[in-house]
Parts: sequence; C-alpha cells; structure tokens
Amino acid sequence: MALRFFNTLTQELEVFHPQKDNTVRMYTCGPTVYNFVHIGNFRTFTFQDLLRRWLRYRGYQLNHVMNVTDVDDKIIANAAKEQKSIEEYTQGFTKAFFEDAAALRLEQPEHVAPAIKHIPEMIEAIQKLAAKNYTYTNDGSTYFRIANFSQYGKLSHNDFAGIRSGARVDVDEYDKADARDFVLWKGRKGNERFWTSPFGDGRPGWHIECSAMAMSYLGETLDIHAGGVDLIFPHHENEIAQSESITGKPFARFWLHSEHLHIESQKMSKSLGNFYTLRDLLDTGYQPEAIRYLLASVPYRKKLNFTFDGLKAAAKSIERLRDFEARVASAKLPAGRNEALSARSAAAIRQFEEAMDDDLNTAEALAAVFEYVRAIHSALDEHRFQEENRWDTARVLEIFDSVFDVLKPGAAEAAILSNGEIDGYIQERQQAKKSRDFARADEIRALLETKGILLEDSKEGVRWKRK
Ligand SMILES: [Zn+2]
Repeated sequence: MALRFFNTLTQELEVFHPQKDNTVRMYTCGPTVYNFVHIGNFRTFTFQDLLRRWLRYRGYQLNHVMNVTDVDDKIIANAAKEQKSIEEYTQGFTKAFFEDAAALRLEQPEHVAPAIKHIPEMIEAIQKLAAKNYTYTNDGSTYFRIANFSQYGKLSHNDFAGIRSGARVDVDEYDKADARDFVLWKGRKGNERFWTSPFGDGRPGWHIECSAMAMSYLGETLDIHAGGVDLIFPHHENEIAQSESITGKPFARFWLHSEHLHIESQKMSKSLGNFYTLRDLLDTGYQPEAIRYLLASVPYRKKLNFTFDGLKAAAKSIERLRDFEARVASAKLPAGRNEALSARSAAAIRQFEEAMDDDLNTAEALAAVFEYVRAIHSALDEHRFQEENRWDTARVLEIFDSVFDVLKPGAAEAAILSNGEIDGYIQERQQAKKSRDFARADEIRALLETKGILLEDSKEGVRWKRK
C-alpha cells in the first residue's frame, strides 16, 4: 500500500505524492514567541518531525518552511510593557524554543521564517488582494471581505452563508460563531511599533503573515500544510481565503492537523495549574527522550492524554529497547544465519512501514517493533539466533530509530539543565567557596555559563537566570 494521509480539506485518506519532482513543499505554523512553548504545542511539532522523517524514509526530499510568529498583539503589548523592542523581547523565547526542540530531537526545517523579516511580502500580498477588490478599509485598518470568497469555510467544513454581513473582527483569534471579515493590516495605535505601507501606518494581521511567507518560499501551491487542530479555524481557513483569492489556485493539496493534548485527562490550562513547558517536565527528572516517545506514541489524529504514568511507561519502553539492542550486540552467537529469523526481521520492517504509511500510525508501528523484540528475545533464549541475524536486527532498530529517535542516549552538552540540576550546581559551588576551593567554584560558574545559565551573587544569596 502506498503512503496515505488524512486530508482535513477532503476529509479522506488520500495517497500522497508531491506535485512535481521528488521534493515535498511543506509549510508548518511555528511558535508564537511570547513565552516558553508548552507541551501541547510540542505534540504538534513532534508530529511534524515524524512526518518529515517518514517522508524522507520514503525517498522524498524536503523543502519545509516554518514561520516564527514574532509580530502579534501579545508580543507588541508585552514588549512595550518591558520597554523593549520586539526583537529584544522575542529573542530569548525564540532561542529557548530551538533549545527545547533540539532536546526533543526535532529536526530543523529547511527554512525558519521570522514574520518580522517578511513585512514587505505581506504588504505586497495585501496589495494584490486590494487590486482584486477583496479588501476594504475602516478606521485605518484593512479587512478581508469574506463574502467575496465563495469557498470560505471549506477547510473547517462550516457553512458561513448566513453570517457574511460585513461585520469585522480585529483580533487574530476568534471562534466559528464569530466568523467575520478579518483584519489584514491593523492601523497604527498610539506609540506601538508600526510599519509604513500604501494603506497607512500599521502592522500585519497574523493570518496574512503565513500566506505571504508560505507562498514566497514555496510557490503558489504547497504539497502539505500542517498544524494543530486549533489552527483549522480561523487561521488556516483565512490563509486559504487570502492565498486562493490572490492566485486562483489551490493553496495546499494536503492539510494535516494533529489533535489536542490533555494532561491527566484534563484540558491544559493555566488556571488548573497543569500548564507544562518542556522545562517544567525536565524538572521532574524525566529524560527528553521519554517525553518525545510519549508524544510520538499516539497517532497524531487521536487525542493524547499525557500522564505521568504514561511518561514512566515511555521511559521503561526506551529502556527495554536499549537493553534489547545491547543484548543483541553483545551476545556470543554461533556462526551462520537462521533464515526463519531473517524472514521474521523482514516481516517486522514490512509491518512497521505499512503502519507508518497508513497516516503515520505510530501505535501500530511500535506494536510491530515490540512484538519483534519479544520474538528475538525468545530466539536468543533458545539459542536459535545466529551471528548473521545480528545485522538483520540492527537494520530493524535502525529503521525504527530513524523515525522515533530515542535509542541513543542524550548528549549531555545538548541537554537543557533543569531547575533542580542548576540548584544542585549552585549548592556545590557554595560548598566549594566555603572550603576555599575557588578553582572549583569558578569551574562551576563557567560550566553553567556554557549552558546558558548566568549566576549573580548578591547579599541574599545566589540568583540565576537563563541567558
Ligand atoms: Zn500559520
């Protein structure tokens, strides 16, 4: 069976090929950098990483663009509050995002596109919409007239026929009941950051950012556009309306959306106190591989219930696989090859491939691997496993790990220090100072600095902050 994805646009499982040559042109909506990214978002980014890796396994090259939303309402307000420029304010959160992504072993897209560096492309896109009469201006802001795009609602499968009244919405995020003409360019307010444009001083809305950047890097029609389900409406619906109104062509052939993540069966929210960033989870002592494994183990279109029991089980699963790998590598084996076991390895690879081809069914793929591991353990116990079978098994694990990427232990220098580890180092440094071992104390300060932790000695004790 060929590689298939569930397409939100058609609501069908469809065979996937790129539109031309061997390259997949893919756009994914990246982080909004006004805070540390939470674990629910990292579920989406982990799904996109699996998608990348599986496309490559299937022989495709990738041209993947991910934006970084660094111009939006919250960012502008927060930066102003802290009396910083947008760039100064977002820099640290952008850096933290890529550190977290590296800890979760997420591959870097071929292009990372910060919105703030693409304002001229956004202005140009709005001009094209204006030339085709899709826009109007009110009170200094420019809006998209959804009544002029007859297919509005085709991605979210909503019928908006009754509510196209010319009413407007200025905020970037709103729900279906609030579907109204959305803002493309927000008129300048007071002293906030603005750009000049043919339609006045102001700044772009969130939706036009993605349309303009996606098309400027990847052309008029993308092969895949992916994101979390929460982006289907209004964000992706609006991206389609803008892009297709400009080009008259389909904006993306495949729309892939990953489901929500719940924590211990509850919606994640600040008020429930179950709002976790990756750093919070690392503070509980779990390795990033275990978090990656848990996020990857549930097929992306199913809701994922993130629990601490699940995290424990994920760590155990990784341990079982690493133990298995070590046993196969170190076992003393008779020469030759057991053909039946070679065939068993080939079958495991086939099952793994079929599961991943089936809309990235990671649960099935893992089941195939663990069944295989059990079978080979028995073969080893019963002395049926021979020297040349070792290479078959290595191949199975190599394929598994090219997607799941959890077998190799994390490189210590790449790991982010948890708050607990930092406190440990600080205590050790205090101890060293007390016993007048200043060389060791300096060493610890330098070591923390290489990991982005700055220490500040004060009368009240030692304070630290992340660079
Ligand atoms: Zn987007």
